[in-house]
Amino acid sequence: MRVNPEKLKKDFPIFSNNPDLVYLDNAATTQKPSSVIHAVSDYYSTVNSNVHRGVYKISEAATEMYEGSRKKVSEFIGARDPSEIVFLRNTTEAINLLSYTLGRRLKKGDEILLTEMEHHSNLIPWYFLRDAGIVIRFARIKDDFTLDYDDFQNKLNAKTAIASFTETSNVLGSINDVRNLSSMCRDNGTISIVDGAQSVPHMPVDVSKIACDYLAFSGHKMLAPAGIGVLYGRKELLDEMHPFLGGGEMIGEVGYNNATWADVPWKFEAGTQNVEGAVGLSAAIDYLKAIGMDSIRSHERSMIEHIFEVMNSVEDLRQFGPLDSDKRGGVFSFNIGDVKPFDILNQAATKFAISHSIHPHDVAAFLDRSNIAVRSGHHCAMPLMGRIGVSSTARVSPYIYNDAAELDLFFDELSKCRKELGR
Ligand code: PLP
Repeated sequence: MRVNPEKLKKDFPIFSNNPDLVYLDNAATTQKPSSVIHAVSDYYSTVNSNVHRGVYKISEAATEMYEGSRKKVSEFIGARDPSEIVFLRNTTEAINLLSYTLGRRLKKGDEILLTEMEHHSNLIPWYFLRDAGIVIRFARIKDDFTLDYDDFQNKLNAKTAIASFTETSNVLGSINDVRNLSSMCRDNGTISIVDGAQSVPHMPVDVSKIACDYLAFSGHKMLAPAGIGVLYGRKELLDEMHPFLGGGEMIGEVGYNNATWADVPWKFEAGTQNVEGAVGLSAAIDYLKAIGMDSIRSHERSMIEHIFEVMNSVEDLRQFGPLDSDKRGGVFSFNIGDVKPFDILNQAATKFAISHSIHPHDVAAFLDRSNIAVRSGHHCAMPLMGRIGVSSTARVSPYIYNDAAELDLFFDELSKCRKELGR
């Protein structure tokens, strides 16, 4: 099925409440369709109660909805069993859980391999382990903004305990072949973790094909409410892991001198859970599946191809990402400045170059005058900014409800911005 943005837009109340809004900041968070909003509100209106605890009817109904959502998520990403799905707040919490629990087993001198294109949430949790003498290494990106797979392979060695890498960069849009990376990890006896925050909402992601050990993603970037996220982990790995947070729900038996843990996944779900979030996530998955993840991927590919066709209409535009839509998701970072894209990775060249002649915040503020919402800043990827030789960029990230006409409007306004503010 072809994505029909004009039709889909009608499902999202934010657009009828803001008729001129051109929302192009979907990599930050997505809008919510009525079906998700109603699912959450119906949950509150009909069965709201705490799960796993009550023996009364509405609590059993709420538990069924919560566990039903887990089953839906597990099928959506090709997990073998719902017990491989842990509900958490978001990708950030999932990676913190991994760094805490897996980090307990590491010893001084062990290595963790990341890439140069990671979001802070796939950097900082690992940086915490430096205090224990763990060494963090980074696989390089190439001049075409794709990952250097040879460098990744070369940096995997006998000490590499964990490798954690994004499937799609939230800045460059680069899509990494995580199946290949996970296979390199497996051959090396290294645990593989995929940050799926920017891929699970945008294309088919199947953990049985990727064969990674863990995958993390966030509901709010895929039409669901904020505050619900997912950690997938292979059951045998989750079974042997220490819990992350302690408290109610995650225990088996507790005495004054001892405690045992619940089975997975509940061992990792301490305290009262975001049941309404899980219910919303289930409705979001229904919505995405009805469109089809393959169709969503092709729509975003057509959006990025359209951007490639028209981007040269803006004088001095520099874009940061692969110029091949096979290797690129629907994320487009750019600046208006005078350094040619392929000079950017060359530190010597950038040292003398002006990093951008119109600050990305000014670009975003200019576009906002026409109700076009784009992101500007370091995108929680400060090391990557340094790597590509800028302090910040502007970014557009279309989704299912955006169309080529909106991109054209964006480029028209960007040209005006260049003329009015450019030096
Ligand atoms: N990883 C990537 C690639 C992201 O783009 C983001 C958010 O933008 C995250 C992780 C963190 O997601 P969250 O803030 O939902 O935890």
